[in-house]
Amino acid sequence: MSTVTVTGLIVYCAVAGAGLFINRGLSQPLFVYLWLAGYLYLLFRVAYDAYISRENFRPFPLIVLGIILLNFLVQISGGLGSYLWPFYFLYAVVIAAFSPPRRTYGMIAVMIAIESANLLQTLSRADLSARWHVYAGFGLTLAGVSAVASHIMQRSRQEVVQVRDAHDRMLAQAESLDPLTQPARLESLAPENRTASHLRTVRLRQNDFNSLIDMIFGFVPAHTYALFLREPREGDSFALQAIRSESGSAVLPVGTVLDPQKRGLIDVCAEQRQPQYLSDLAAMSMPLHTLGYYREDLREFAVRSYLVLPIVKDGRTIAVLAVDSREPGAFSLETQDMLEKFAPFFLQIIDNIDMSLLLKTRADHFGVLHVMSTELSKSLWFGDTMRAIIPQLRGIVPFDLCACVLAGEQDGGQTLTLAALSGYDATLLGSSFPLSDSTVVGSMWKHWQSQNDQKNLAYYSADLGDRGREISLFPFKELQKPIRSLYGRLLVAKDPLRAESYILRGAVFLASFRPNAFTEYHREILLDTLMNQVSQVAHNSLLYQQIENMARTDGLTGLLNHRTFMEKLQEKKREMERRPHPFSILLMDIDKFKNVNDTYGHPVGDLAIKAVARVLRETVRTTDFVARYGGEEFAVGMIETDIKGAELMAERVRKIMEQTVAARIPGGELKVTLSIGVASFPEDTKNTADLVSMADEALYHAKRSGRNRVCLHRDAAKTPSNS
Ligand code: GH3
Ligand code: MG
Ligand code: MG
Repeated sequence: MSTVTVTGLIVYCAVAGAGLFINRGLSQPLFVYLWLAGYLYLLFRVAYDAYISRENFRPFPLIVLGIILLNFLVQISGGLGSYLWPFYFLYAVVIAAFSPPRRTYGMIAVMIAIESANLLQTLSRADLSARWHVYAGFGLTLAGVSAVASHIMQRSRQEVVQVRDAHDRMLAQAESLDPLTQPARLESLAPENRTASHLRTVRLRQNDFNSLIDMIFGFVPAHTYALFLREPREGDSFALQAIRSESGSAVLPVGTVLDPQKRGLIDVCAEQRQPQYLSDLAAMSMPLHTLGYYREDLREFAVRSYLVLPIVKDGRTIAVLAVDSREPGAFSLETQDMLEKFAPFFLQIIDNIDMSLLLKTRADHFGVLHVMSTELSKSLWFGDTMRAIIPQLRGIVPFDLCACVLAGEQDGGQTLTLAALSGYDATLLGSSFPLSDSTVVGSMWKHWQSQNDQKNLAYYSADLGDRGREISLFPFKELQKPIRSLYGRLLVAKDPLRAESYILRGAVFLASFRPNAFTEYHREILLDTLMNQVSQVAHNSLLYQQIENMARTDGLTGLLNHRTFMEKLQEKKREMERRPHPFSILLMDIDKFKNVNDTYGHPVGDLAIKAVARVLRETVRTTDFVARYGGEEFAVGMIETDIKGAELMAERVRKIMEQTVAARIPGGELKVTLSIGVASFPEDTKNTADLVSMADEALYHAKRSGRNRVCLHRDAAKTPSNS
């Protein structure tokens, strides 16, 4: 409240109070003295607040002063019979409604006390006893209505406060968040923070435009100023970006997109890049809403002159400024010149905003890249890693399809396996195919090798046109899709064994059904950066596979090693506990092998061991597992095979081995024979843990009974060994 208002009120109250006092004098009852004391005290408070402790002026004493003043007016205009009573009542209720409940109760209590004292003082006993219920009813109604009003208002006040607090918090958060200087802050990726950040940009944008319009107002007085900005997405539509009008309620809200049917002069102005001026609308009987920024349901009011000005950048209208006035012919050529002088400022604001939005999106993108590289460094398995990052990648690169292949570890990259798929039928995950069957990967690889350019690993086609229907990245019909844009990237690594030479580790493809889906920014900033890391993951993943293989297999023969054989056996044991099925073990040992070593030397012995491994690999079924159990001992685990089947298989192995040339030796060929022990579940034992030792017993028996033979455990148990 301004000091002038307060002064006026005080003077008014003082004069009224003094007049009243003179009028009634000191002969008045106690009530008047009480009233006077309160009145003077409040007057003092208001004056003190307004003039001495300026900062915290509180309206409350002034409000109470108002009540007392009204009460006083009621008194002098006839007391209980005054026609001012309803106003007094209404004022009290309104004041109570706008006060917090506790204060309202206090006020009501004081008022009822004053009024009761008043009644007791002024009415006769007879009057009082005859009409007490009227007065009491009045007092209770006043108290009830005031309390309810106060509570209702309190609640809506709280809601307003909550909403305002939430809004303030959000803005504070946006203020504190600066993705441009802290791109690595992961919180900047939280969606609500992004919204807050966006809100800040929008608010800044609004403020800048509004202050510029305010400034123009100082130079070119007009009724309404409206700025339309070309929408960044839909190239030819304009949206209301800022507006200032003397009839605020008559204009459309900021953000409204121009109805393409009724763009009128704004369209003409934007297309011709020329200002458009109507000096008197009245002569043209044009409804106001056709100007583009007035509400359609508007009742006519007098806008007479109208001027639209294009704001042009690189030969294209990117914004339009419209002004109107109630005066006919309000805008002269000078005004036009003046307005044109402001155009560069609008351009600058627009440029700044575009730049900051661009930087912000890029900061967001780098945030996503950061998250992805954390993900990349977490896992050793290429497929898992890629499947985890593809959804994130989709947030920053607009692709429809993604496929990742990994080169086989054993055959020097000649076999590719589908390691991750997105947008494709996922049942093909894990399928393998020879490199030569993928023309695209094959030719990219050949091209890259011949080019001798170690950098250019990526291939991009902005528009494959009709070729996109036929191009087959992989030899699977199910993966054939009509693509238009394609980004392909080879994953290569330095060969650890040969310097200056590279091995193919895999490839990643991103494709879109739209032409020109990936910009240079997507390819060179986002994808190429990311793919270097992806390449590293592919490489590590393969090295890891190699190490794992080395730990599981035997170096000389490539068969499983002893430890892995035992692990597999454990696994089978658990499986058979769940679902019992026949299972057999063959344990074999080369006969008289010491002699081979002694006669022809260890290298020849090794060749013989390899020959046995080869025979075993070629003879047993793929579901069986073969291990080099010891030096020249081998073991085979045979699934779903009973004792008969096992014996047949053992016999077949023995016979083939007998006829196989194991090594060339001076003056001839070396052949070795095998003794084989067989034990089966459930025929020999119900306890699978005993199978190996039982097969061993059978093997021992085979040796004892002359070597180069198959012996079943149950026969071994029947026939006592002759040692
Ligand atoms: P038997 O018919 O009783 O099995 O006679 P054997 O001479 O084969 O006797 P044994 O099975 O005990 O022979 C094991 C020999 O196998 C001892 C060792 O010199 C040889 N040996 C073990 N591992 C290797 C290996 O990796 N390479 C070579 N060349 N010889 C091995
Ligand atoms: Mg042996
Ligand atoms: Mg032996």
